[in-house]
Amino acid sequence: MSDRPHLMIPGPVDLPDSVRAASGAPARSHLSPTFVDSFGDALRRTRVLFGAPSGQPFILAGSGTLAMEAAAANLIETGDAVLVISTGVFGDRFAAIAERLGAEAHVLRAEAGETVSFDAVAAALERHAVKVVTVTHVDTSTGVRCDPAPIAALARDHGALTILDGVCSVGGEPLAQESWGIDLALTASQKALAAPAGLALLVASPEALDAWSRRRTPVRSYYVDWGNWLPIMEGYEAGTPGYFGTPAVGLVAALAESLSLAVEEGLDRRMERHRLLGAACRAALHALDVSIVPVREEIAASTLTCAFLPEGIELGALLPAVRAAGAVIAGGLHPKIRTRSFRIGHMGAVDRGILADTVAAVEEGLAACGHPVRRGTARRALAEVFDEAA
Ligand code: PMP
Repeated sequence: MSDRPHLMIPGPVDLPDSVRAASGAPARSHLSPTFVDSFGDALRRTRVLFGAPSGQPFILAGSGTLAMEAAAANLIETGDAVLVISTGVFGDRFAAIAERLGAEAHVLRAEAGETVSFDAVAAALERHAVKVVTVTHVDTSTGVRCDPAPIAALARDHGALTILDGVCSVGGEPLAQESWGIDLALTASQKALAAPAGLALLVASPEALDAWSRRRTPVRSYYVDWGNWLPIMEGYEAGTPGYFGTPAVGLVAALAESLSLAVEEGLDRRMERHRLLGAACRAALHALDVSIVPVREEIAASTLTCAFLPEGIELGALLPAVRAAGAVIAGGLHPKIRTRSFRIGHMGAVDRGILADTVAAVEEGLAACGHPVRRGTARRALAEVFDEAA
């Protein structure tokens, strides 16, 4: 293990060396040929990563919340109705954003650890004529993964657009935006893409762009208006840069490198690596007698694991003990389970060795807090999952 603890929170994540080098390269003009190449590559690779060959990518300076706001501001108008499928804090955030834009948000909210049933979505779509359905692919406050494809198909049958929040999934969970019928998918740079924090990525389908072009009213945010950014994104891809707002040149160069690593790894292999990391992490925690927040294995995310603290153990004691043993993990986030849960991110460039160090550090931390564990249990359970897959 290196002398620095592994950063195993659900973003920002540790960066591969080549991504760190790209982000620290000397400043360049946003119009320089080198930067134009980087930006063009980042846009093209974003389309590949999202599985959206006909989609229009946008890469903006800002965090994942800006990506959510950009999606909503361009597609939602005052008075529109929106159906929000919420599996945690970030679903609720979409409702707040939609309401800020003057929309009426109908929220289907799952208990922490559960998904919203398909039948409940179908019934809500019968009851309300909505323009947009929002889905959080993986909610980082619960570790629950939704199945977006059937929801998008249902939304389309009801004439509604689907927005997918992929901030905690893109790059670590399979995504086929176009064949799943997702109109707008979005993510941020600092999680499964293993790039530095600071970029918001969106891919709009032709249907989403069409809905935007038929708006009755102007987009209520000047910065995120696609009308300002579309010519810029098209220009960079075509090798003819333009200016609307200064791009985050260092971050875009780092993102281009991280996306190139993802494409080089092979998207199927990358998703399978994440799937195994998730399964192994859950197995290791189960072996330590720790229970997992998602109530069924098939809705547990591959990118992070949310788990309940064993009885009598406090976050304030566990987190520093795990850190001292070599891994930085996160506390709970969902308001209903905030003080009773912890979260381990295992996305981006995380490999089996890093996850093994991490579960060993969690075991060590739990032991230091008085949880009865037999040393080596977590590593053994992890290895069993990896061996089975070999
Ligand atoms: N959506 C999800 C699913 C997230 O996990 C996060 C960040 N944890 C966000 C949106 C917001 O992203 P950011 O913190 O980058 O604004």
